[in-house]
Amino acid sequence: MKSNLRIAILGAGIGGASAAVALRHAGFNVEVYEQAAAITEVGAGIGLRPPSIHYFTKWGLQEEIERVTHKSVQIEILSDQAEVLLKEQWPDLTNDPNERWARLIHRADCLDTLINAIPTEYLHLNHKVKNIVRHGDYAEIEFENGVKVEADLVIGADGIRSLTRNLFFSQAEPVFHSYHAYRALVNVDETYGLATGDTLRIVATDKVNLYLLPLKYRKQVSVDITVPHHDRTGRPKVPKEDMLNQLKNFHPDFQKIAENVNNWDVRALYDIDPVQQWSNECITLLGDAAHSMLHNQGQGANMAIQDAGILAECLLEAESVAEALQKYETLRKPVCHLFQNLSRQFHNDKEDTFFPEKEFFENK
Ligand SMILES: Cc1cc2nc3c(=O)[nH]c(=O)nc-3n(C[C@H](O)[C@H](O)[C@H](O)COP(=O)(O)OP(=O)(O)OC[C@H]3O[C@@H](n4cnc5c(N)ncnc54)[C@H](O)[C@@H]3O)c2cc1C
Repeated sequence: MKSNLRIAILGAGIGGASAAVALRHAGFNVEVYEQAAAITEVGAGIGLRPPSIHYFTKWGLQEEIERVTHKSVQIEILSDQAEVLLKEQWPDLTNDPNERWARLIHRADCLDTLINAIPTEYLHLNHKVKNIVRHGDYAEIEFENGVKVEADLVIGADGIRSLTRNLFFSQAEPVFHSYHAYRALVNVDETYGLATGDTLRIVATDKVNLYLLPLKYRKQVSVDITVPHHDRTGRPKVPKEDMLNQLKNFHPDFQKIAENVNNWDVRALYDIDPVQQWSNECITLLGDAAHSMLHNQGQGANMAIQDAGILAECLLEAESVAEALQKYETLRKPVCHLFQNLSRQFHNDKEDTFFPEKEFFENK
């Protein structure tokens, strides 16, 4: 199956790029098609968990990923007056009790690490998918630039508004959660001592979640503030005061951090309901296309990376593409649906854990 299989990956975000790296490492030929003219990523910090880091290591990217991350062993929940309410270790997501950490990284650095591992001749920019037609066990993909290609396996890694999902698996629209997320990077010395060291710090009130995620290797901090708002425009044009007003009872240093930023990336928060079927004989979904989730558990990118690793393993083991896709979907759906559901809970300072998934993983 390996040498002849024509594989098309649609989308070169963290999911599509991970799939390309994983499949190339497993010995498959892949072509990646991305609608954008250049690979760019929104500047926000994420925590890569041990199962994701294991895949980078497996794919030969351990040194590269360690260079652009640092290890964090705990998180802290703060009150809106900056008092520490709870210190908690990252949860145990593997069979190794020593792996209670996350490696903190900027999303762009995560994507660059993956993209740099894909030879440029296999990455086709300016290729926006217009239509996909399935003919039994292969599919024909048509792009807006007039190009048409055939593939024995199509991996729809085309994000929350996936055309692949819409054509084959679900027409349900993304769900708006009446929140706006404000994201920015600030220099560590502009955080008034609130974001030093390795620790992700979170203020979680009933309405507002404020994250300070240190990116030590960049000497920057990723600031992420989530506030309620009714404007459902994807990138809403709202005055900064809508967010600042929600912080008016916060410690003045939090307010100053927010006031000083002039280039907030503001997004309305959407996810999708769990999708019941991800695959047919030759087409499957991966990453946000399959299971877009809110950021509250910090698992969207992690799930995309782990999807890629497991899909490659399933393809290596199976006799046919259809069998591999069945196995991939069976392995991935339960954990992704769990995180989709858990991620719909916004955090508050009354909770006794930041990681409700512990109940499922640590008692396994
Ligand atoms: C600001 C922010 C903060 C986040 N924080 C975290 C976190 O802390 N932890 C975590 O694990 N996750 C986090 N996430 C979520 C995580 O980044 C996503 O889940 C992950 O990047 C999904 O990757 P993806 O490749 O599946 O989708 P995307 O990144 O959306 O990539 C999809 C790609 O497909 C392309 N595409 C779409 N349609 C077409 C088409 N028709 N033809 C060709 N190409 C197409 C798009 O241009 C895009 O490049 C965050 C997300 C955001 C936005």
